[in-house]
Amino acid sequence: MAVHVARDVDDATRAVAVDERAELIAGGTDLMVEINFGRRRPGALVAIDRVQELRGISRSGRVRVGAGVTYTQLLADDAGSAALREASRSVGSPQIRNAGTIGGNIATSSPAGDALPVLAALEATIVVRSVRGERRVPFAEWMTGPKRNGRARDEIIVAAEWESAGPKQTFMKVGTRNAMVIAVASLALVVDASRRRVGVALGSCGPTILRADRAQSFAAGVLDELGWERQAAPTETACAEFGALVASAARPIDDVRGTAAYRSHVLSVMAARALARVAVLG
Ligand SMILES: Cc1cc2nc3c(=O)[nH]c(=O)nc-3n(C[C@H](O)[C@H](O)[C@H](O)COP(=O)(O)OP(=O)(O)OC[C@H]3O[C@@H](n4cnc5c(N)ncnc54)[C@H](O)[C@@H]3O)c2cc1C
Repeated sequence: MAVHVARDVDDATRAVAVDERAELIAGGTDLMVEINFGRRRPGALVAIDRVQELRGISRSGRVRVGAGVTYTQLLADDAGSAALREASRSVGSPQIRNAGTIGGNIATSSPAGDALPVLAALEATIVVRSVRGERRVPFAEWMTGPKRNGRARDEIIVAAEWESAGPKQTFMKVGTRNAMVIAVASLALVVDASRRRVGVALGSCGPTILRADRAQSFAAGVLDELGWERQAAPTETACAEFGALVASAARPIDDVRGTAAYRSHVLSVMAARALARVAVLG
């Protein structure tokens, strides 16, 4: 199998444009599993793990995280999202976190991808580039089904961007054990106090990452009363109501990792705890 080691993004976009059989490889933690199990057999690989342009994190009001940024890097360099840090800490093992990239997670588009509920709750934009130019896709329009998205074969994800949302945010994940585990259910909650906006997104509870719109409106109402900028705890009743609304937004199924009923239950518990947790952050 031919392997082209890309020098920069332009080099990589040209390499995937000229060879229809070529697939990108970043950390290889998803793709090599597919290849090793015989599920995919790319005719050629374009390696992008040495492309410096994809490895940067910048923050100037708007946050930009390059697609080649690994989970280890996200834990070491502050991208200004506590929820993304929490999600990064929960991914795989140290070896997986050293190699696996946020761009690979976005490209694989598994409903269980841990970075994805966070990007959804932050209302991130995915930036993709090809020889035809660059386009920006709101995360809400990115995923089209389980492991499916709107990326054209020759497009490279270059970055994820979002408006800095402040400290009131968290990510939670339930699995069959505490580490090295695919989510049975996950949840990201972002309260952007300066924009008076609540983002709630669910992982592993439907064919794509789901938003919980009614729960978002309910939490915004609670924060209108408590004060968005204040560090004040909502009542237990409000947290429980929020949890019930989050669970009602899920479209879970029974599978080897858990039942639909269990997923709904843990979502309501996680959501209630998440609201109580973020409300007192400041
Ligand atoms: C043991 C193990 C444990 C894991 N645990 C977790 C976990 O807890 N949580 C979790 O979310 N994931 C987990 N994963 C999955 C995986 O580590 C992540 O999805 C990771 O983010 C993939 O990134 P990568 O750079 O390794 O992608 P790669 O394997 O290099 O690529 C994956 C796919 O994305 C494409 N791609 C990669 N980069 C780009 C780009 N910039 N533009 C366009 N396409 C691109 C590739 O062509 C390929 O199709 C685990 C995997 C393993 C093997």
